[in-house]
Amino acid sequence: MTELALQQYLDFAYIVAVVLFVLSLKFLSSPASARWGVLAGEIGAALAVIVTLCNPEVAQYKWILISLILGAGIGVPLGLVHMTAVPQRTALSHALGALSAAMIGVAEYYVGTAPTRFEMGEIALEVIIGSLTFTGSLIAAGKLQEILPQRPIVYRGQNIVSLSVLAGALGLAVALVVNPANTTLFPIMVIVALCFGILLVTPIGGADMPTVISLLNSYAGVSAALLGFVLNSKVLVVAGALDGSSGLILSVIMCKAMNRSFTNVMFGAFGQVQASAAGVQEERTVRSATPDEAAGILAAANSVVIVPGYGMAVAQAQHKVRELYDVLTKRGVEVRFAIHPVAGRMPGHMNVLLAEADIPYDRLIEMDDINGDFPQTDVALVIGANDVTNPAARTDTGSPIFGMPILDVDKARTVMVIKRSMSPGFAGIDNPLYYLDKTLMLFGDAKSFVNSIVHELTGTTH
Ligand code: NAP
Repeated sequence: MTELALQQYLDFAYIVAVVLFVLSLKFLSSPASARWGVLAGEIGAALAVIVTLCNPEVAQYKWILISLILGAGIGVPLGLVHMTAVPQRTALSHALGALSAAMIGVAEYYVGTAPTRFEMGEIALEVIIGSLTFTGSLIAAGKLQEILPQRPIVYRGQNIVSLSVLAGALGLAVALVVNPANTTLFPIMVIVALCFGILLVTPIGGADMPTVISLLNSYAGVSAALLGFVLNSKVLVVAGALDGSSGLILSVIMCKAMNRSFTNVMFGAFGQVQASAAGVQEERTVRSATPDEAAGILAAANSVVIVPGYGMAVAQAQHKVRELYDVLTKRGVEVRFAIHPVAGRMPGHMNVLLAEADIPYDRLIEMDDINGDFPQTDVALVIGANDVTNPAARTDTGSPIFGMPILDVDKARTVMVIKRSMSPGFAGIDNPLYYLDKTLMLFGDAKSFVNSIVHELTGTTH
């Protein structure tokens, strides 16, 4: 085969990989096709790697093989973490992706042919974004894993210091564009960019980390796209651009779902408000019920809306919830699931868990579609959800979650809430829902409480 023919085959395979990436994003937008989305992305990535390895420019495979084994050695255990640890796992993936992009940029500067001014600009931008994404993502992972304090760490004049450090990195990049041969400035620029990543994420509270991770995902994509220009790799440009834009779109969706603005997330120090709000809780009484009583109420209902949240994920209660769904449905009760866009700790968290338990997709109703049905609902059964049901978001202008769209469970005829205690949710604030006359608190671990209800219901059936 001539070199030209081989190149044409390789280019064609790259186009197929790019189409698979686009299809992957398309499929991932619906729970019904999400598995296909993952598969399409995996095949696309594998194809892009194989095609790159077939490139005649690849002179020797030894180091590539060693890197592949090392990467797989890190990647496989990362992929096996528990579902609730996925946000920090994702942050680590971004950190490693950004580190590799930055390191290739560094190698290109030192080992590649002397860059022109334009190429120097590309390399410098790519290395700055890769480096800040690397340290920023590590801080985000540390906060989510609670190795680092979750609260925002702020001090007077912080934004000025951070922006000055960024300006310093960009200034060094400009100096390098003017004189690409100035090898002393390059490592200083890298160090300053690494410092900026730390300064960027440290002041942001743990509650905003999933949004920040999505934003860092976007940065990692931009860095990869720039790397594509540096290496003249079209597939990397497209894949990076898709990654960058989808990360940005996801951040916007999450901000909207929490009624926050980008500036508020990046500079708002959300966790501080939570701490003060948590301190002014009143002593009020709640009504509680046993599994036996809860089973009786559910059995007598015509319509039940189950509202899953982070607690269901922690308790891994989704399979028991499926059993409850089956038992109630068999009794003729209409059971649906209300999905809040930011329930849990990552976008689509509840969809993934309920799909894992094989709950039919058509039973999963998005917030805007189900909210109008709550007044006609006999029982809203909240399982480990808290903030996403907090009516204070509608009424209390002083609440840190004021304006966040919520599931209107308080409008149902009866509300039952499974949680272990009166502890607050992620936003750290009290929930007035628990003190309503129509609300019954079902105290206990979500999995064992749902199990007891199922037991009561099946016990009465047989
Ligand atoms: P949440 O407000 O964090 O509340 C979860 C509740 O689950 C807690 O009150 C906890 O109460 C209970 N719980 C924990 N473990 C449990 C167990 N084993 N059994 C039973 N209950 C248990 O959760 P949410 O309502 O799903 O709201 C999500 C929060 O995360 C929102 O504030 C949202 O803005 C934020 N967030 C989400 C995303 C996202 O992408 N999904 C992104 C950024 C921020 P007890 O300790 O009393 O049991």
